[in-house]
This record gives sequence, C-alpha cells and structure tokens, in this order.
Amino acid sequence: MLSVSNLDVRYGQFRAVQGVSMEIAKGDVVSLIGANGAGKSTLLRAIAGALPIHSGRLLFKQQEITNTSSSSRVQQGLSLVPEGRRLFSDMTVEENLLLGSTVKRSGDWNIERIFSTFPNLVKRRHAKTGNLSGGEQQATAIGRALMSNPDFLILDEVSLGLSPLVVNQVYDSMESLKDAGTTILLVEQDLERAMRFSKRTICMLEGRVVLDKLTSDTNKEEITQAYFGLH
Ligand code: ATP
Repeated sequence: MLSVSNLDVRYGQFRAVQGVSMEIAKGDVVSLIGANGAGKSTLLRAIAGALPIHSGRLLFKQQEITNTSSSSRVQQGLSLVPEGRRLFSDMTVEENLLLGSTVKRSGDWNIERIFSTFPNLVKRRHAKTGNLSGGEQQATAIGRALMSNPDFLILDEVSLGLSPLVVNQVYDSMESLKDAGTTILLVEQDLERAMRFSKRTICMLEGRVVLDKLTSDTNKEEITQAYFGLH
C-alpha cells in the first residue's frame, strides 16, 4: 500500500531521515520506535506531506505521491494524527471533528460512529477542546483523522502526556480500527505496548532503519539493542 524508497528528509544541511526504505501492506499494523531524535516524526510528517522530501520516492497505492500536497494524500486515503494533537482549542469537539471531513472520501466513518468508538467524547460534544482532558483531546484528534475515512492511518505518539489508564482507553479504541482492517503506522515510545499492539516493529536510529521485523519474529532484547545501537 505504501512504498518508501531511499527517502532523505533534511532540515537545512541536517539529514534527519537518511536512505529510509520500507513497504507497508494493506492491513499491516506497524510500530515505529527509536530514541528521541531518531527521525520518527520527521519520517511520518514526510509521508503525510507535511514536510518536503529531499530525495527518494513515496508510492501510495502504486501512485507516486513524493511531491503531492497533504490534502491530496488525505483524498487518497492517508491521514496523520500529529504529535501534540493540534486541535483548535477554541472550537468544540464536534467542530474539530467536522474539520476532519473537509476532505471526505466515501466510507463508514461519520460523526456518530466516532462518538460510538470514543464514548467518553459524547458528553463533551459541545465543549471547547481546550477544556478537555489529554485523553479526550487525543480521542478527538484521532476522530478528526478518521472523519476523512482513511484506509491508512498514521499516528504520532498517541500516548504522550496521558495517564496509563487513559492510554489503555485510547489503545482499546484503536483495536477496533485494527479489527476494521485499517492499515496503521504509529510511533510509540513504550516498547512493550508497541510490541503488543503491532504486527511489525520498525526501529530507527540516527535517521536510519536499523530493524524491521514481524513482532512475532523478534523479542524485547533484540529491539532494545537496535533502539540503543548496541550489537
Ligand atoms: P522524538 O521522539 O523526540 O519526537 P523523533 O525520532 O521523532 O524524536 P524527529 O523529531 O524526527 O525525531 O527529529 C529528528 C532530528 O531532526 C532531531 O535531531 C531533531 O533535533 C531534528 N529536527 C526536528 N525538527 C527539526 C526542525 N524543525 N529543524 C531542525 N531540526 C529538526
């Protein structure tokens, strides 16, 4: 579904992502892990079209998207839940969700299905998102991305700043996305959670991919070694 070939993304002269290649098939659930500064967010943002690509290629559903706009990628079915949620804090939950359907594809997601997937949001429907808890904000951010009916969902650090209980709730709802066959690529700092949730684990170190394996074919020790660059 997504093919990343030899991708380089730079900030000025600095190569934050260096020669990264990966293939993500329909229905894959992939965790991208790595230490702070490894280049994970940069890679996700480049895939979503939020950062320009220096060199390399991106194909989505066999079509070249290397230089296309983020909105055209959303139109093709690729949607990002960015780090830090980026909600409009003066707008209500419902208004934020509706913004997610500005680019709308056909599919089953609509505002009522978002509220049944994240039942905690129902009573907050008309609350400004600036007044919500971290977990409610994260659910709104995921819901907003789902409103475009993506078949490929990219999530950057959904657990950041949330209590363990709320992280569990967010992941429980994401299980239902998995069951619905959504292809998922997510950055997760918690290695054990990443391994529990995903079928595949990709580890980055200093801008490069250093491990890419089915989660069932690896173990925590091997992943930890890749994470810290130990051999
Ligand atoms: P984290 O877990 O801390 O978010 P990450 O793996 O997502 O880390 P990135 O945020 O992609 O890493 O950053 C990769 C590298 O690029 C880091 O060295 C970072 O300092 C640098 N970087 C990120 N954003 C910028 C920017 N806007 N300008 C310059 N350098 C940047």
